[in-house]
Amino acid sequence: MDLTAQPHRRWNPLSGEWTLVSPHRSRRPWQGKVEPVAADDLPPHDPGCYLCPGVERAGGVRNPDYDQTFVFDNDFPALLPAGPEAEPLDEDGLLMARPEHGVCRVVCFSPRHDLTLARMEQPALRGVVDVWAQQDAELGSRDDLRYVQIFENRGEAMGCSNPHPHGQIWATGALPNEPEKELREQRFYWDERRRPLLADYLALEMNRVERVVCANEEFVALVPFWAVWPFEILLLPRRPFAAWREMTSAERDGLAEILGRLCRRYDNLFQAPFPYSMGFHPAPCDGEEHPEWVFHAHFYPPLLRSATVRKFMVGFEMLGMPQRDITPEAAAAQLRRLPDRHYRDALE
Ligand SMILES: [Zn+2]
Ligand SMILES: [Zn+2]
Repeated sequence: MDLTAQPHRRWNPLSGEWTLVSPHRSRRPWQGKVEPVAADDLPPHDPGCYLCPGVERAGGVRNPDYDQTFVFDNDFPALLPAGPEAEPLDEDGLLMARPEHGVCRVVCFSPRHDLTLARMEQPALRGVVDVWAQQDAELGSRDDLRYVQIFENRGEAMGCSNPHPHGQIWATGALPNEPEKELREQRFYWDERRRPLLADYLALEMNRVERVVCANEEFVALVPFWAVWPFEILLLPRRPFAAWREMTSAERDGLAEILGRLCRRYDNLFQAPFPYSMGFHPAPCDGEEHPEWVFHAHFYPPLLRSATVRKFMVGFEMLGMPQRDITPEAAAAQLRRLPDRHYRDALE
């Protein structure tokens, strides 16, 4: 079996990182450019949306008439289940590739086509948190998977053309680059000090306050000291724990509550639906103890000064290192001043 005909990852010996290659996926149907629709004009149900209840998807499957959060296997997944795997490739440590397998799922947050996390009610948000935790429990307990990445791409600026509120789950047989780097650094810190890096970091930030955006009893949202994106957020639990399964019911409520608040503040910043990529980083599900790891979420929004001015990572940033103009402290101050109430609800 030809390795390069199935999902695999290739090693970059210059950067020491992997790239996931999904050759089978180039056969997926091209849906064409979708014309942007102003968020205010969206109907609660769109028969042309393949994520809406009762609509037939491109794969020929019809969505059930779901009335809360709904999960299905991605019809055109970047990863396939483990099967007969090709031999790994290794030529002089320079041409290195490994077969990769995994699971890709889609999570429809709500049956309502016109809602977003920012405009969903607290019980519905708690329902989404419960579904994420369930999915993590199911996929994370499998021996063939080492990481469960739950994420949301929101907005056309992030390459997401369907406004239906939804996220994705990619669970992989290998640990992806980003959690791998975070594992290494958190382990160094733990080995030296026997305390979790992110717990110590949160304690520092709570004393300084200037980068904290909002908080509740269970979670704190802040613009990290080292933020790259203009309005980047790191969401941390007040009680350090490593994985979804350790989250108490009160912490699930707290997570749902702060997610809603954060998304409303983001929308309020430029009085427009705010694009971002967000995702959760629990500890790897590799069967080991992870005392060094603290569960957290990242929000990476691309907008800079208005709903239309976005930051690009180009030039020196691609070749040298990331650069930013607005300081993390100024960004945090701007987000902190915004109301928790969504600007559209305030108008009604
Ligand atoms: Zn829809
Ligand atoms: Zn992380």
